[in-house]
Amino acid sequence: MNCPVCGKDEWHDLNYLRNRKYWYERNMIYDEKIGFAVCKECGYLGYNINSEDMKKRYTDQRNAVNWMHHVTGFRKLDNHMAFLNRDDFGDNVIDVGCGIGMFPFAVKKDKINAVGTEYSKALANYARGKYGLDIMEEIEDFNTKFSFISFYHVLEHIPNPDIIIDRAIKALSPGGKIYISVPIWLDKIINTSGGAIANDFEDYFHLNHCCCFTKTSFFNLLKMKKLKIVRKDEDILGMTVLCEYDESIESKYDIEKYESIVKTVEKIKAAIELFEKNKFGEAVGVFKRYPDAYIHKALNGDNSKNFQAQVEIIEAGLKEMPEEYPLLRQYAGVLLQWDGSKGEPAYSNNVHKAEEIFEKLVNIKRDPFCYESLIDLNMRHKKDYKKALYWINEYKKHDLEATKNIFGNEAYIYANGMNK
Ligand SMILES: [Zn+2]
Repeated sequence: MNCPVCGKDEWHDLNYLRNRKYWYERNMIYDEKIGFAVCKECGYLGYNINSEDMKKRYTDQRNAVNWMHHVTGFRKLDNHMAFLNRDDFGDNVIDVGCGIGMFPFAVKKDKINAVGTEYSKALANYARGKYGLDIMEEIEDFNTKFSFISFYHVLEHIPNPDIIIDRAIKALSPGGKIYISVPIWLDKIINTSGGAIANDFEDYFHLNHCCCFTKTSFFNLLKMKKLKIVRKDEDILGMTVLCEYDESIESKYDIEKYESIVKTVEKIKAAIELFEKNKFGEAVGVFKRYPDAYIHKALNGDNSKNFQAQVEIIEAGLKEMPEEYPLLRQYAGVLLQWDGSKGEPAYSNNVHKAEEIFEKLVNIKRDPFCYESLIDLNMRHKKDYKKALYWINEYKKHDLEATKNIFGNEAYIYANGMNK
């Protein structure tokens, strides 16, 4: 396979780091190799394996539509609402790899047309039947131009993201936008699928994720494809960008030394193995940017009863990653709990600090824990009942109002129904 960034076909094999049996037992591979490798030319990390084998890896797992598709769909709608404006869409939207079609359905209103592509027949049929959407396999099947093309946590699942982007650019109307979000690897140890704890090396490099983008390799890919970033976010979910095609951009890539990529992957493996043995402090000693290891260290053993120790551990993590959402969330939680445990709750400096953090975080992800904490601290500590009521109302209406403002009445009515 040619590297999707630089186009060369010289790979450094990394299969020795992987557990083939793990994937064999999960019916994710059969007779083929795992194929984990790094490009010797540019340092792109991914899988050197033919695309048919790749496709088989996840088409085989996609079964009937279940409640998880809806949970994930709603979470992604929240993320879109936090990042996008209605003006971004133009009049003809396509969501590539749309799953059950919640995003195009939410967008589709008034004068905006929205369609999707989806390989899975079960998901595509659901999107057609439930939401009345036009769903095809590929962008070019629609034989039209789009003002907005979305790849939301999709490119990392495609063996040749370079080819898919080329095809998207061909289908983009003048001035149109390409919306891409991908997980970023190596920068920190987090659960790359979102949600759960990062305590499994094989899961960190889940075989569904054919492209293990680093920030550099992701930006390299965009530059090579002449995509100019017009908006960027790293807090909501992975790396999210809104791009425009710009002919004047010079197609080039920055080189990451493959030897240093190998070293980082080895370190990540060592750190996760320490985490698995509950050696959280040693894990962050090996790899400093490991949020779950700080959180677990803070909550483990004697530290669980010692607020001072907890605060110090989380602060050490924040020193490495000042904007890391789960660390800030944990930090604010501990600060609030700390003073909450000492008799009559007061509006102390710690609670004030927690409030500031929660108010910042609630705008990023509209996380129930942040709303609930803001309600709690205003009720019990600050005794500001008006403000508590404000957060209760925000909590209740945020989903509905944001849905209405960005996606329009049809989605609002739908969301209202769902919340009853
Ligand atoms: Zn390369």
